[in-house]
Amino acid sequence: MSDYTPSQIETKWQAKWETDGLYHADIDEKRPKFYALTMLPYPSGDLHIGHWYAMTPSDARARYKRMNGFNVMFPIGFDAFGLPAENAAIKDGIHPMKRTFANIERMRGQLRSMGAMWDWRREAVSADPGYYKWTQWFFVQLYKHGLAYRKMSPVDFCPHCNTTLAREQVWGDDRHCERCGTPVIKKDLDQWFFRITKYADELLNYDGADWPERVKTLQTNWIGRSEGAEVRFALAADPASSITVFTTRPDTLWGATFMVLAPEHPLVDRLTTKEQAAAVAEYKKQAARQSDIEREATDKEKTGVFTGGYAVNPVNGEKIPVWIADYVLMTYGTGAIMAVPAHDERDFAFARKFGLQVRVVIQPDGLEKLDGATMPAAVPAHGTMVASGPLSGTPADEALQAAIRFVEAQGFGKGAVNYKLRDWLISRQRYWGAPIPMIHCEKDGWNPVPDEALPVLLPEDVEWKPTGESPLKLHPTWKNTTCPVCGGPAERETDTMDTFMCSSWYHLRYLSPRYDKAPFDPKEYDYWMPVDTYTGGIEHANMHLMYTRFFHKALRDMGVTEGPEPMMQLRNQGMVLGEDHEKMSKSRGNVIAPDLLVERYGADAVRAYLMFFARWDMGAPWNSTGIDGTIRWLRRVWTLVTEPAGKPTASPETLKALRRKVHQTLKRVTRDFETFEFNTIVSGLMELLNEMSKSREAGAAGSPEWTEAIDIYVRMLAPVCPHIAEELWTEVLHKPYSVHQQAWPKADEAAAAEDEITIPVQINGKVRDRVVVPADATEEQIRAAALASEAVQKFLEGKAPRKVIVAQKKLVSIVL
Ligand SMILES: [Zn+2]
Ligand SMILES: [Zn+2]
Repeated sequence: MSDYTPSQIETKWQAKWETDGLYHADIDEKRPKFYALTMLPYPSGDLHIGHWYAMTPSDARARYKRMNGFNVMFPIGFDAFGLPAENAAIKDGIHPMKRTFANIERMRGQLRSMGAMWDWRREAVSADPGYYKWTQWFFVQLYKHGLAYRKMSPVDFCPHCNTTLAREQVWGDDRHCERCGTPVIKKDLDQWFFRITKYADELLNYDGADWPERVKTLQTNWIGRSEGAEVRFALAADPASSITVFTTRPDTLWGATFMVLAPEHPLVDRLTTKEQAAAVAEYKKQAARQSDIEREATDKEKTGVFTGGYAVNPVNGEKIPVWIADYVLMTYGTGAIMAVPAHDERDFAFARKFGLQVRVVIQPDGLEKLDGATMPAAVPAHGTMVASGPLSGTPADEALQAAIRFVEAQGFGKGAVNYKLRDWLISRQRYWGAPIPMIHCEKDGWNPVPDEALPVLLPEDVEWKPTGESPLKLHPTWKNTTCPVCGGPAERETDTMDTFMCSSWYHLRYLSPRYDKAPFDPKEYDYWMPVDTYTGGIEHANMHLMYTRFFHKALRDMGVTEGPEPMMQLRNQGMVLGEDHEKMSKSRGNVIAPDLLVERYGADAVRAYLMFFARWDMGAPWNSTGIDGTIRWLRRVWTLVTEPAGKPTASPETLKALRRKVHQTLKRVTRDFETFEFNTIVSGLMELLNEMSKSREAGAAGSPEWTEAIDIYVRMLAPVCPHIAEELWTEVLHKPYSVHQQAWPKADEAAAAEDEITIPVQINGKVRDRVVVPADATEEQIRAAALASEAVQKFLEGKAPRKVIVAQKKLVSIVL
């Protein structure tokens, strides 16, 4: 038999599978469906090792599900719009469209080299007019249902990329652009938003969805729901006007001794007295120069200026001074706070610095009586309400509700919920995106492009170099159109959509990528949706994974989709780092190119190594020598299966032990596929190979046990290393093509059972011995074996033990 030559067998089988349509997934009502989805790549130019790391185990698991009788759909496509292509175009002058589609062509080839079970007929590319027609249609639907709106607002703007960013795209304490690292500035622009906040509460609910705790926590924190009360403080000089605050501690209202507004708060100018005008103006200027994070930093020296104006604390009628300070942000809550220095750290620091009154209104249990004049720090803990008028004496556990009831009864506020989540800003002043399908007429205002006029095509002849204006605005004719209401001259919206809009629904386009009557064929939807398993990076927790859930829920309420969630199970892979333990990047020179590895070792070895070298959910630094072990293993598999068997000479014990190991491994690999433990799948197969080599040396080859072992081994190998498994199955063992259409083997429990088990024996909590008993020993037999042990006899010194506990078949515990 010839040597193992991956390059030959891999291209051969990839071509045959393609010709035979082996991985085509079509509706089949007789079989249960399984929609396996991996996050679609961005066409950056090259498939990198991170794609392989994310996708090959996802492919292996999809294959495993198929062998288990599921009708599996495993589609792929490209998230083709977006800034990187445009930024690259600005650098080297190649049109983003040309670059993107050339990159896609290249990456298709690279994806094919992986030997994954993609159904290429279902490929979807978000920059295709046939795709973005429906992205635009969805925009119109959201608009018609009141979930898309336009407003002037200060937005985060990257001066380098010349575009607005979503809050999620502003990273780090220095608030830099996710794409280019440039510090982000604020700018006032008219923008389109999606009302994701309407779904804030529902997005906190994951009932029925098997998602990682970490993602749920990230999203929950991002949504930032807090309960409390909204309270109105009237202006002392103008009781008809008031400042509204949101507080999570209405039980501290009697301790509010001053108020603080964000410098940008609209009431600041009305409150400011002549005497304070200059100081206030100066302070506003310096605050505008700082980022939100700088302003919020807790370790920062507190600064602020008195406006000269006063508000009235509604619970006690006291006049309290109103200040402005940069630690209060317009973007959180209402842009104003009631300051309760005795029970809030920042308010305390502020009060002490400016000599403002500190009044204790909460006395936590077990603390000495607090004194506002002398306390060295704020006490934010909950406790009994004191010095709080009619509510004095209310215990800690009733304080919040009692305070809310009081506020509501008195008519100056109400119980309220606050969220950190903001509406999704989707306007981008960039070229390479789906045009926002809206038309503006002087007479009729904004109206959506009629369905029959979709898609609004992105023109090719555009100067895409950034000017801060949308490139489409600078096109001589593109924006001129007619008003869908009056038929008069009108202008198109010239901004394009955030590409997260395109990726919010790509799993639906895969259902029927060429369907032109709707975004997807409802027959396909009914069969395939929801996605059964979704795999991808955790970095998308607050963006894509939140947006796609919102999208699904909003469409469900319009009757377009069904069910609570689009993706029932989510699993995140970790990251492959460079050999230097740093994130891979071209500038560090630590990038591992999968193409070269495939050329040298074959796709199967790369697949197996990526599954083996790290816990999938954790990731690890790359290790170039490690893959040698994987290729040696595959060569040994090749030899073991291809060597002629001859006549068996092994003892019955050897054959029994071989079967036991085979079925034990099968049980383990099956379990590990279910739980995404890919590294132990490969190590299990490696261990079994060692055992099989030993049995072969002991003369097992040629026996029925041996034949069964080889059969099960190749089937278990198939999802991990699809090419070598196919070659061995079809060409060497001459079994019916294809191994990927075979059933997953069933473990024989009796064969897998151990003959004997070893049980540790504890004396007074310390392990002193281990006893070996038959696997089917009774509790009485195990007890007798433990007491008969020499070590135990020594400790007993002839006396009877006080207690002997046999814990299942795992432990014997003796108390002297
Ligand atoms: Zn940027
Ligand atoms: Zn009009």
